[in-house]
Amino acid sequence: MSQITLGIIGGGQLGSMLAIAAKKLNIKTVVFCDDIDAPAQNFCNQFVNGNYDNKEKISEFLNQVDLVTFEFENIPFETLSGINKFKPVLPKPSVNRLIQHRLAEKDFINKLNIRTTRYVAIDKKSDIDALEDFLPGILKTTTLGYDGKGQYPIKSSDEINSLNIDFSKGYILEKLVKLKKEISIIITRFSNNKYEIYEPIENTHEDQILKYSKIPAEINEKIFNQSKDWAMLIAEELKYVGTLCVEFFIDRNDNLYVNEIAPRVHNSGHLTINAFNVSQFENHVRAVCGLEQIPLKKISNAKMINLLGDQITHYRNLQKFNDKEFFFDYLKKDIKENRKMGHITTLL
Ligand code: ADP
Ligand code: MG
Repeated sequence: MSQITLGIIGGGQLGSMLAIAAKKLNIKTVVFCDDIDAPAQNFCNQFVNGNYDNKEKISEFLNQVDLVTFEFENIPFETLSGINKFKPVLPKPSVNRLIQHRLAEKDFINKLNIRTTRYVAIDKKSDIDALEDFLPGILKTTTLGYDGKGQYPIKSSDEINSLNIDFSKGYILEKLVKLKKEISIIITRFSNNKYEIYEPIENTHEDQILKYSKIPAEINEKIFNQSKDWAMLIAEELKYVGTLCVEFFIDRNDNLYVNEIAPRVHNSGHLTINAFNVSQFENHVRAVCGLEQIPLKKISNAKMINLLGDQITHYRNLQKFNDKEFFFDYLKKDIKENRKMGHITTLL
């Protein structure tokens, strides 16, 4: 077979790790990103810099690739569906459109008889008054949020009235779950209807940002099985091709809820690079490029720590790691508070 060139939209650390995985499989990559300093340009074969609605740049990108995937979900639907007319986009743009919108996403999940947090659409301040049932809760923008951005914890309806936000942008109010734990499932669906699914990963967030992930997750058997079944059902219903992540909440009564779906490789799956024979990134590339599926094998238990902001400096200065520690520096130009700068995975 002639060599495949994969286009990747988005040039952050997920794009970098996809490009690294592709290289191992002898697949070339072209990264398209609106950030001139995108870290993935250090790992791909070609880099195109342009805004996600710049037609000229998009065609420059498309001329170099056989198919296109993406590393983040906030890409305009028009861009992805426009691209799909020329080169296949996987996962499908319609999947991305659904999941971009927290309300549509949660409606979709509930239709599958899968539990989510209780939620209600909010589009003007006065709506809030009748919403005591959803409080305490978290008000979230329906689109464009990540790492807790665009989220406001709300204890009483008074608090919401004092928020200086533009409700016409679309918000959702979610009842706060009394969390015992958070887990995620990473699953790769291949176009022939087959799957590779990783075991549940236990995640710890600080200030709504992922801080640690580890396997095995300390959960009971029912949650272990239910989380996998729900992730399979979601991937199946979406006729998904590629790697997908489902984030879950577990409450203090051991009820499982889907928090959200990420139609892409995911931060909580970084440990799959070292802890499994095939990483989430390699599986994604294999699935979208139609390569052979390899049965997953776990190599080791593991823990991953995200290095945020200037936490990276200490690790950059370390000369030596032991042979169970794997340090990844995302090579981002500027250190910013709470910015994901790198991670370290330790095999346990
Ligand atoms: P993002 O798109 O920013 O990842 P999430 O909805 O996943 O947004 O929220 C980020 C984190 O905030 C979650 O992983 C969880 O720790 C906390 N959180 C969000 N919504 C709720 C909720 N309804 N109940 C309890 N915790 C929540
Ligand atoms: Mg999340």
